[in-house]
Order: sequence, then C-alpha cells, then structure tokens
Amino acid sequence: MDGDVGKAGWSAVEGLLAEAFQSGQPALWFQKHLGSLVAEHQWDVVWPPVTDKSRFGEVAADLYRAYTAIEYARQRQAQLEAAGHALWVYRCHDPIGVCAGLHAVLDGLVLPADHAFWSIWAPPNAPFCTCSVTGARSPDASRRLGGSPEKSLPTWWDDVEHVPDASYFGGERPSVRELGVALLALSDR
Ligand SMILES: [Zn+2]
Repeated sequence: MDGDVGKAGWSAVEGLLAEAFQSGQPALWFQKHLGSLVAEHQWDVVWPPVTDKSRFGEVAADLYRAYTAIEYARQRQAQLEAAGHALWVYRCHDPIGVCAGLHAVLDGLVLPADHAFWSIWAPPNAPFCTCSVTGARSPDASRRLGGSPEKSLPTWWDDVEHVPDASYFGGERPSVRELGVALLALSDR
C-alpha cells in the first residue's frame, strides 16, 4: 500500500496545508483537521489509523514540516529576487542533520546573484532541508551574513552525480501528493 488517496484526496490535504500555512496554524491544528478528513473519507484503509497517535501524528507532522519548509523558501526566494542584491550567500543551518554532506560544504558560498549555480541549488535541496539564501551588496556585507567570499565553488556543483535530485533540482518542488506518498511509504516500515 502506498497511501495514495487519489488526486481529489491529495488536493483536499493540500488545501488544508495551505490554510494552515497562510493563517499561521501549528502542526497540531493540521493533524486534527487531517484526522477529520481521513475519518470522513475512510482513508484509514491506506493510512495509519488516526487513533494510532504516534504513527499518524508523525506522518502529519512530517508532511506539515516538509510543506512549510518549501513554502517559506518560496517566499524567501521571491523576496530575494525582488531585493536585487549583487551577491547571494548560501547558508546551511543543519550541517550534521539532513543537510550534512554537500549542503554543509556549500555553507558560506558567495556568488553573483545571476550565477548559474542558483538555477540548480535554490533551497530547499532535499526533504526537510533548511538551507537558505540571503542577499548582500558587497563581499564585506556577505561576511556579516555568514558568507565566506574567498570560498571557491566546488567543482562538482553542476555534476549530475551531485546535484539535487529531480524533485528539488533548480527550484523544482515535490507536490503534496509526492511528499505524502513518500512519507506514508516510510511509515509502513
Ligand atoms: Zn540543506
């Protein structure tokens, strides 16, 4: 079972996530309303039962976390583009967690805003990635934001073996359905 509740089902879940995000509701609000949706449509055939507080709660919390990370990044990216800074600074905020490895290596990288790097590595770059980009007017200003202007671009930045996978490549984002089906598959184990 892959937890797929169909297109209409996932759009209902997405509507709930959008409402939670826009009105600043916490994960528990989403969990409660998702529970009603699951009960109403009898999705508990394919989902962990709502009464299984730990498994159901975990899926709801993870879905909320993944969705809000993507939406916050979308907002930040739009603000960044509107601000028109000459330089952009890549910051990794979770170097020993989900962003360990390549994202951590990119931390502090300072590049012109129009560099092709940003067309591949606009965060988030993986599920639950909390990396961010900020704008700076000068190399000195970038240092105050945690940037290292002397840091050189790793040679693998556009290597197919190393770039973010297709769901996150170049500002691509997985849909709520893709996120949900993947999370439910994990919770089955
Ligand atoms: Zn990251």
